[in-house]
Amino acid sequence: MSESERKKSIQSIKGTKDILPDEVWMWQKLEEIAGNLFERYGYRQIRTPVFEATELFEKGTGETSDIVTKEMYSFRDKGGRDITLRPEYTPSVVRSIIEHRLHLRTPPLRFYYFGPMFRYDKPQKGRYRQFHQIDVEVFNEKDAAIDAELVEMAQQLLIRLGVKDIHILVNSVGCTACRPSYHQHLRKSADQARENLCKDCRRKIDTNPLRLFDCKEESCRKISEGFPLITDHLCQECRDHFLAFCAYLDELSISYLVESRLVRGLDYYTKTTFEFTSGALGAQDAILGGGRYDDMMKQFGGPDICGTGFAVGIERLLSAASLEENKREWLYIATLGAEARIMGMKLARELRAEGWECLIEYRERSLNKQLGRAHKLGAGRVVLIGDEEVRSGRVQLKNMSSGQQTDVSVLGLAEALNVSD
Ligand SMILES: [Zn+2]
Ligand SMILES: [Zn+2]
Repeated sequence: MSESERKKSIQSIKGTKDILPDEVWMWQKLEEIAGNLFERYGYRQIRTPVFEATELFEKGTGETSDIVTKEMYSFRDKGGRDITLRPEYTPSVVRSIIEHRLHLRTPPLRFYYFGPMFRYDKPQKGRYRQFHQIDVEVFNEKDAAIDAELVEMAQQLLIRLGVKDIHILVNSVGCTACRPSYHQHLRKSADQARENLCKDCRRKIDTNPLRLFDCKEESCRKISEGFPLITDHLCQECRDHFLAFCAYLDELSISYLVESRLVRGLDYYTKTTFEFTSGALGAQDAILGGGRYDDMMKQFGGPDICGTGFAVGIERLLSAASLEENKREWLYIATLGAEARIMGMKLARELRAEGWECLIEYRERSLNKQLGRAHKLGAGRVVLIGDEEVRSGRVQLKNMSSGQQTDVSVLGLAEALNVSD
């Protein structure tokens, strides 16, 4: 290694991104708004590890899905175990429920989660290898009412985050009883157009025909418009469930559009699917997606209980949200000399206990320079302490917007601060 190579600074890994202090407030605010909302609906937070056995995600997503074939962030650890950084959240929750037998406990199986997911995808603008999601999951509730309530909760979330121009698309993807015969119709139809479809779509005809509707190629999209629709092939149970879901949305005065091409490519999805779009995001406008996965728990070797939920990419959500930072007044404590510094530290401890944010910077600067810093940083008021103040047990309190300076006794400071002048 050459000298210049050694000195070269280390950069963040491609596809990852720092969230710096001046944007962290948005993440915190989003989590606060989302968490408060979900708890009002009876959801509780769950936190599972970021890595799991690779097998979990292979089982969860089906080996034919794109996530498994191309995008898993997998490695072998020092103990020779096959590990994957989670590409999605649901399999981890399902694993956790089975492992801790949460379905045998009293609380409802309603969970939410915020955190990073990982996909070894080609990094591009707005797509990261470490990205973040909000996830919401409900288990063991079959009725279409819970699906409608989830849509309502998702809508409330977007409204509270200030996302504009929201549209809701809904569909049913059927179940293991009705989907196979629909697949046959779809395959037959796609097969006739095989030559005009892209390479990816030709592969999907055999492996995962529902995904034919996901293709981004304009020519494929045009062709897929002529394909048969799942809504025309639902079994009685799926049809009834879908009609009930729509009826609940009507009762709740939630406007939506039935989009028969809205599908989920993973095998465990059943019945309800929904997607939220926002005009604020332009062409790539999907912002939140969800649906029902009644067969997932069973496929994981757990009890036969149904599931439903939604996921939102936080990066995209923040780009469509309009949030305002909570600004609170805070204090800069300027001190000159060793004794004044000690007095400042003790005073700051008391004020912090009262709930004030106080900043003392431990660098040798004149009181004037410290006042300059306080101004630049946007302090509301400054407490000035020099030799004279140490002797008298009084401090100078300067209001940074009016410039007014008052002489206050140390004991009366907390009270003086509560009078906003
Ligand atoms: Zn069905
Ligand atoms: Zn295609």
